Amino acid sequence: MLSNSEKKIALITGGSRGIGAATARLLAQRGYHIAFSYRDRKESAESLLSELHAIGVPAIAVRADIAFKVDILHLFREVDRQLGPLQYLVNNAGILKPQMRVEAMDAERINQILTTNITGTLLCCREAIKRMSPKHGGKGGAIVNISSGASRSGSPNEYIDYAASKGAVDTLTIGLSQEIASEGIRVNGVRPGFIHTEMHAEGGEPDRIERLKSSIPLGRGGQPEEVATAAAWLLGDESAFTTGAFIDVTGGR
Ligand code: NDP
Repeated sequence: MLSNSEKKIALITGGSRGIGAATARLLAQRGYHIAFSYRDRKESAESLLSELHAIGVPAIAVRADIAFKVDILHLFREVDRQLGPLQYLVNNAGILKPQMRVEAMDAERINQILTTNITGTLLCCREAIKRMSPKHGGKGGAIVNISSGASRSGSPNEYIDYAASKGAVDTLTIGLSQEIASEGIRVNGVRPGFIHTEMHAEGGEPDRIERLKSSIPLGRGGQPEEVATAAAWLLGDESAFTTGAFIDVTGGR
């Protein structure tokens, strides 16, 4: 049995499907012990959990809406209690609302997006650092924030609120990486472009997906596994000299 100092314990937020589930699977294959959170999809979470247990990976799934501080605190306490000291975090949970021009955006929509995508991500970083930093008895670690190509394009006429939330994730990644580098904690980001997941199932113009794909230089949408590979590299020791950096997984868009 591995001692606590030999275990690699990773938490992936929003691991029940899409990019988060692909990341949980890949990290499990690479020897990490896995905690992942979900919000609504208990069945998908349980199915992934059974898959990980079947290959002998210590894994837990915790229901936690990262728009709520109390859920985030519960999530991290469950990781402490059931797996042990956290060293790796992938902030993946995020929401996109249907396409809309600025005049139609109301405060409720904007708040939901910002609370989930940036406040939730920042609070998860805070809780992780309390566990990873030697100042609090930790042994260092790595954080990967899943941003979006939208943070640079701004997504005009589509979702400038979502794009702005991801721009804030980029800024957080840069600032935090500087703040905690001397504590042996690295913070990096992945900016996916159009990836085939359920995130795109809701709303939008009927021809939107085809239009998006035709604007990608590599001529196709990406797969969740292609984002997971980038996140896993940034999390692991192979990127030990990389912090405050971003990998774009956008097909060149
Ligand atoms: P999906 O919509 O397929 O999955 C979202 C995941 O996040 C699910 O596990 C969902 O849980 C969870 N989740 C959503 N809201 C919350 C919340 N408030 N609290 C906790 N968990 C939550 O998304 P993707 O896999 O496509 O996206 C993952 C990340 O990648 C997001 O941050 C997204 O912004 C980013 N991204 C995605 C792109 C794409 O084209 N797909 C492009 C650029 C960035 P549940 O299943 O329980 O609902």
